[in-house]
Amino acid sequence: MSVIDLQDITRVYRMGDVEVRALRGVTLDIEAGDFVAIMGTSGSGKSTLMNLIGCLDRPTSGRYLLDGREVSRLSRDELADVRNRTIGFVFQSFNLLSRTSALENVELPLLYSGVKTRERIVRATDALGLVGLSDRLDHKPSQLSGGQQQRVAIARALVNRPKVLLADEPTGNLDSRTSVEVMALFQDLGHSGITVVLVTHEPDIAAYASRVVVVKDGRVVSDRRQAPEKAVVPPEDPVEELARAAHA
Ligand code: ADP
Ligand code: MG
Repeated sequence: MSVIDLQDITRVYRMGDVEVRALRGVTLDIEAGDFVAIMGTSGSGKSTLMNLIGCLDRPTSGRYLLDGREVSRLSRDELADVRNRTIGFVFQSFNLLSRTSALENVELPLLYSGVKTRERIVRATDALGLVGLSDRLDHKPSQLSGGQQQRVAIARALVNRPKVLLADEPTGNLDSRTSVEVMALFQDLGHSGITVVLVTHEPDIAAYASRVVVVKDGRVVSDRRQAPEKAVVPPEDPVEELARAAHA
């Protein structure tokens, strides 16, 4: 069944007398557990599309069924509610609180949704386990590698048990090894039924997805399935590891 179903979506930004038609009729159907890469040059409409999929914004016209529910005409409050229950976000800059442990960073969304301390700790610990960081709960971001920091951010995105994980250039600040680490994780999430939609400029990264959608001038110009490359993380460089231990 499709979890994201966009039909003829447009988004026009109005600034005074000027209109920018950022999306010009996008139809896209994404099934649960799929791993989709969205590509396109700067200004093609990728972020606008992600904002709409993520219920951060509403379309000018068109229909959007998210997990079977029409959400394109909801009020801002209703939209925020759907968003908090259904969507997790991962950003290029990890947006972690620097003086705060991995565990507390992951607990944060639960704090906002009023979950009690004990359950917060249990769920945040589970989420960090899911991303392979059970042994790093008390580490602060500076004591973690870039890949580990991004995995903490992914755990934070997962802690509310979303159906959809949206990632805008999640590997933009990572070296190639840690990028593969994050892609391996996204591939695993897909196997557990979470839908992953990611924006990337890099064909090497898109190769790990099972579907590649190319956007140009606010339209989908290509949409193809592919056999995803399996993300295999090479062994860690021991010198880098030592340098980090000394720094921490
Ligand atoms: P991408 O993420 O692919 O670089 P965007 O979705 O950010 O593309 O932008 C698509 C088009 O919409 C661009 O022409 C951009 O200038 C315009 N745009 C994006 N956001 C806004 C906004 N808030 N107000 C006005 N124009 C915008
Ligand atoms: Mg963008």
